Amino acid sequence: MRGLLNEQTEVVHRLEDDPAKLTDCGALDYTVDPVTTVVDVGDATENGSAEKCGRCFEDGPRGY
Ligand SMILES: [Zn+2]
Repeated sequence: MRGLLNEQTEVVHRLEDDPAKLTDCGALDYTVDPVTTVVDVGDATENGSAEKCGRCFEDGPRGY
């Protein structure tokens, strides 16, 4: 599954298909100049370097 990694907080969000809305939870809508990368959610979280967003994923550990 593709996700959007916020490199500043190292949280992976669910990627929205709607280009006007970056993430499912809207966290980045209010972030000024977010540094993001499209990643594979499994790969990004597998080695513990990033966490899933608690709002985008039911098994995510935290909000933003
Ligand atoms: Zn999110």
